[in-house]
Amino acid sequence: MALALEPIAAAVGNWLAEFERALAQPDDRPLGSLFHAESHWRDVLALTWEIETVSGRDAILRELRAHAARARPRGFRIDPRRAEPRHVTRAGARTIEAFFTFETVEGRGSGVLRLTPQDGDEEQTKAWTLLTALDELKGYEERAGGSPLGAKAHARDFRGPNWLDLRKAAGEYADRDPVVLVVGGGQAGLCAAARLTQLGIDTLIVDRGKRIGDNWRNRYHALTLHNQTQVNHLPYMPFPPNWPTYIPKDKLAGWFEAYVESMELNYWTATEFEGGRWDEREGRWVVRLRRADGGLREMRPRHLVMATGVSGIPSLPEIPSLRNFAGTVLHSSQYEDGEAWRGKSALVVGTGNSGHDIAQDLYSSGAKVAIVQRSPTLIVNVEPSAQIPYALYDEGPSLEDCDLITVSVPLALARQSHKLITEQARKLDRALLDALERVGFRLDFGEDGTGWQFKYLTRGGGYYFNVGCSDLIAEGRIGLLQNSEIDAFVAEGARLRSGETLAADLVVLATGYKGQEFLVRKLFGEEIAAKVGPVWGFGKGQELRNMFMRTPQPGLWFIAGSLAQCRIYSKYLALQIKACEVGLLPTTRDATRRILAGTGAAD
Ligand SMILES: Cc1cc2nc3c(=O)[nH]c(=O)nc-3n(C[C@H](O)[C@H](O)[C@H](O)COP(=O)(O)OP(=O)(O)OC[C@H]3O[C@@H](n4cnc5c(N)ncnc54)[C@H](O)[C@@H]3O)c2cc1C
Repeated sequence: MALALEPIAAAVGNWLAEFERALAQPDDRPLGSLFHAESHWRDVLALTWEIETVSGRDAILRELRAHAARARPRGFRIDPRRAEPRHVTRAGARTIEAFFTFETVEGRGSGVLRLTPQDGDEEQTKAWTLLTALDELKGYEERAGGSPLGAKAHARDFRGPNWLDLRKAAGEYADRDPVVLVVGGGQAGLCAAARLTQLGIDTLIVDRGKRIGDNWRNRYHALTLHNQTQVNHLPYMPFPPNWPTYIPKDKLAGWFEAYVESMELNYWTATEFEGGRWDEREGRWVVRLRRADGGLREMRPRHLVMATGVSGIPSLPEIPSLRNFAGTVLHSSQYEDGEAWRGKSALVVGTGNSGHDIAQDLYSSGAKVAIVQRSPTLIVNVEPSAQIPYALYDEGPSLEDCDLITVSVPLALARQSHKLITEQARKLDRALLDALERVGFRLDFGEDGTGWQFKYLTRGGGYYFNVGCSDLIAEGRIGLLQNSEIDAFVAEGARLRSGETLAADLVVLATGYKGQEFLVRKLFGEEIAAKVGPVWGFGKGQELRNMFMRTPQPGLWFIAGSLAQCRIYSKYLALQIKACEVGLLPTTRDATRRILAGTGAAD
């Protein structure tokens, strides 16, 4: 029998009180008795200054002890401002889920506790998962009101600088450099800059696009977002309640412009970040920015936030015979519009989102299209299947609560959840998937059946949200070829192993992009690239590598991901930069480790 609401709150309250008491005792037994043997603690800066997950009771005890001694967490109590403790199902298991607050020597934090019964006894619950996350730094809280420019409410000098004059002057950087330079003004850059500006840090975004929002505006004609509006808000300024369920690209692009204006962000358009070097002695970057007029501006920010998305370096497969092809060859990043190909024939190589979207755009524009499949691909209908992972955002708790729940899910649970979601989506999409297999499309469902979310998190692609192209392929309106069927490209198109030649005027290589580490090498050189290592994906760990946290290179940060990921993790990224700026935190993770181990000074 499940506990009623009041006993649930009592169980959570008791656990939190015992946890605080046990942390203060040298004896490990009381602390150990609060966790299941298989449990997880995720800390987001609050105790460890890292984003990290520790799994297994013994490891949790060891790490908690090590970090609690320094951070001195206390004041654990149920958070009355958030959803009440309640029963929910997470990763297929029924659990009590509760929000709590606490503080440390440096800041105030929020957490999520999940309790599950010990040996089926509902009265004896232990922690299955624990999240401790930093919310704010004591003494360095976000600006509550007023303008970041410090404009006066009412000016007595009527010809003195007004708000607009101050805003223009601040954004020109005529006689100063920003503390933080954000490279890329898509959602990742906007979220990071908004958070930093709220923390009083002088921040400039640069983007090569001519107009704010061009990163969306320049995408294909019919694009609307793939997940629903309530999941996609930017920080501080939620989308208006009358917005459509799926936001059209130009509407989002317009919102980005409004956001920059409203949040008073400094943003240079038509500015190419050409790279830079780290000045060790000064503890600053020296970077080159190419302005619209061709002029070069050198800047010396202390921090660089790379928010360049995947639009870095195209990944082009080695197809020697493509040289023989007499038609046009484009990488997907160069593809603009299907109109130019009306009445022509096209081959689209690659079956990820870009390949499918381009094939559909060409087909809808009156081109004859075939898509070439190189490897098995995960297909999921955009509705309802692709929306299942976001069901949490319809459960009732506020956006802030849902975001904290999202942060609180350790990798092991996320994998389990996504296996279940993938099974569910497979059932819902059965008819489409069968039809695709009938025409020879090779399907897959991600590593261990963990679905598209993990394909995204581990390799950034390999799936398609079906907005119609899969139906066109299944119906034979868009042709399908396996890569192995192509013998070689010839002047007229693709010569097949069957002897037939498939005529084409256009070949689009929708073959993705190289990882961020290639961009790091191009912009900062081999030494820094080697120091930083892979960006994104999990490797052997439980967190995305080098994302949202300090990297081995002082002053170099990365942010990317979905609108929700950027909204959520920009907060933690900004808190770390603030902590570095006020001297609470060395700029690299290695330096912190040395200090904690008592073997070195801060860099
Ligand atoms: C059809 C489609 C639907 C999608 N739907 C959703 C959805 O519903 N929800 C969701 O969360 N995500 C969705 N996404 C995915 C994802 O959110 C986007 O791809 C998003 O654009 C990533 O944002 P970003 O800020 O990381 O990168 P980008 O939007 O790619 O922005 C990077 C910016 O950096 C700039 N830049 C790069 N290098 C330099 C340089 N050297 N100098 C100057 N500027 C530079 C670029 O000009 C660009 O503006 C969708 C994607 C597609 C294609």
